[in-house]
Amino acid sequence: MMEKTKVVILGAGYAGLMALRQLQKRGDASFLEITLVDRNPYHYEATDLHEVAAGALDADRITYPIDHVVDDKMTYFVEDTVTKIDKQARRVELANHDALSYDYLIVGLGFESEDFGIPGVQENALAMDSVESAQRIYQHIEDEMHAYREDNDPRHLHIVVAGAGFTGVELLGALSEQRDKYAEIAGAAPNQIQIMAVDGAQRPLSVFSEKLVNYGIDVLRGRGAVIESGKGIDSVEPGVLKYSDRQTGVPGEVVAGTIIWTTGVRGSHVMADSGYTGKRNSNSVNRYLQDPEDSHVYLVGDVAAAIDPESEQLLPTTAQLALVMGEIAAKNVIADITDYELTEFSYKSLGTVCSIGNTSAIGVVGTDHEVKGYPASMLKKVIMNKSLMETGGMKEVLSKGRFDLYH
Ligand code: FAD
Repeated sequence: MMEKTKVVILGAGYAGLMALRQLQKRGDASFLEITLVDRNPYHYEATDLHEVAAGALDADRITYPIDHVVDDKMTYFVEDTVTKIDKQARRVELANHDALSYDYLIVGLGFESEDFGIPGVQENALAMDSVESAQRIYQHIEDEMHAYREDNDPRHLHIVVAGAGFTGVELLGALSEQRDKYAEIAGAAPNQIQIMAVDGAQRPLSVFSEKLVNYGIDVLRGRGAVIESGKGIDSVEPGVLKYSDRQTGVPGEVVAGTIIWTTGVRGSHVMADSGYTGKRNSNSVNRYLQDPEDSHVYLVGDVAAAIDPESEQLLPTTAQLALVMGEIAAKNVIADITDYELTEFSYKSLGTVCSIGNTSAIGVVGTDHEVKGYPASMLKKVIMNKSLMETGGMKEVLSKGRFDLYH
């Protein structure tokens, strides 16, 4: 009997689950043995973490069991933490199980919060890079609101988001929509809840036009949330975020009971621990999405630095991109095993939409069609349902999809 080819997938995020579904669809149990590893028994929609952090959604609305997409005729799921990839030995080391050997490896270990070495971030700011960390943020906000009832110290009512990039603005939008709820818990007036983002760039979200960004800023301001731009963050101390004005150098600080860190992300630290040297754990791939030094290892999603073949520019890491990469990697593994031609990486973005709470958004569809307000927020939900369909299938869309399109 022919020996089966062992394919190991690391990470059940967008890239990993897309790769799994494609392998299960295109391959079969007669020649393929797939092992999927994730530290959690569930997949989570990382694009919705900010809603859990703000207390707008419960975690079970953005997660579903990985078992739901595992075809147990050809796939084993191992719930464990990956600690290292040993490319020489073609093995993956795990925290609590024996090492796994592979013929092909698809690495989709995703992103972690990036602190850029700024002092005090690890100790004094809350990261938002997993379901647990998002739940911790909301728990912290609730605790602060309760603490205000005890001592009436206004610092408990102040929430500051470090970074006003895509993630920071989405979080600010979700927080601002929950302001009345926070005020009620604290026994304070809504306008006593201070919600602010601090960012080093002179203009946040520079991928969008100034007009579009100004619209978003106005929506946020209407809900009592502000963005302080042009402030380079220097350090975080307990309850204090310190910055310097980028133009004048004048120092300043924000005092807040809740400090949330969203200045950027890097790929999983497992990449550096395994000898990869890509900047911020984002590693080069060839046109087939293979590790340039090992054609049996595919890097997909946020651990990979994908170059747009048309513009030759580095593509921003997104869920949309991770899904495409997962699909191409799976196709290429099957093609390689069955001696077919490999598919070259190509990518067309559907558009970029940044939510500002549940009911508003700003974005660009295709290359230049701008959308804003309700229609943009509907579009955002359609894109999210599409990715849910691609990783989890119709069953997950029906139970976890976002159909509140009109409000
Ligand atoms: P991830 O989604 O990060 O999945 C990685 C998987 O690996 C997880 O299941 C994790 O549990 C697992 N894992 C990690 N480390 C280990 C380990 N050591 N051992 C075992 N398992 C491990 N993108 C968009 O396209 N559109 C958006 O609107 C958008 N909004 C966003 C909003 C927020 C708040 C955030 C945080 C991100 C947003 N993004 C958006 C970016 C997008 O979420 C990421 O690009 C995407 O999640 C990357 O997918 P991935 O499959 O590479 O990794």
